[in-house]
Amino acid sequence: MESKRSLKENESGYKLVNYAEEWVWDALADIQRQRPDICFCDKCRYDMATYALNKIPPSYAVSDMGNIHTKIKILESQYRMDLLMVVVNAVEKISQSPRH
Ligand SMILES: [Zn+2]
Repeated sequence: MESKRSLKENESGYKLVNYAEEWVWDALADIQRQRPDICFCDKCRYDMATYALNKIPPSYAVSDMGNIHTKIKILESQYRMDLLMVVVNAVEKISQSPRH
C-alpha cells in the first residue's frame, strides 16, 4: 500500500502557527470587554477574525504550543498597532451588518 501520510504530520510536536491569528483573537477579546454594545456571538466573532486576517499579512512560524505566548509578546509595537487598527475596523464593519 502506498503511504498517504501528509508531509505535515510529524512526531516532534511541530505545528505551523500564524501568530497574527493568535493576536487577532486577543485583540478581539480586548475590544469585546470595551464594547458591550457590540454582538460577539460565534458567527460575528469568526466573521470579524476572517475579515481582519484577510487584510493582515500572516506571520507563520514553527512552534510547539508552549512557544506561542512568548512569540506574541515580542511582536513589534508598530505591527501591533497596525493589527489593532485592522481589527477595530473589522469589528465596526461586521457589527454594522451582522450575519448572525
Ligand atoms: Zn452576532
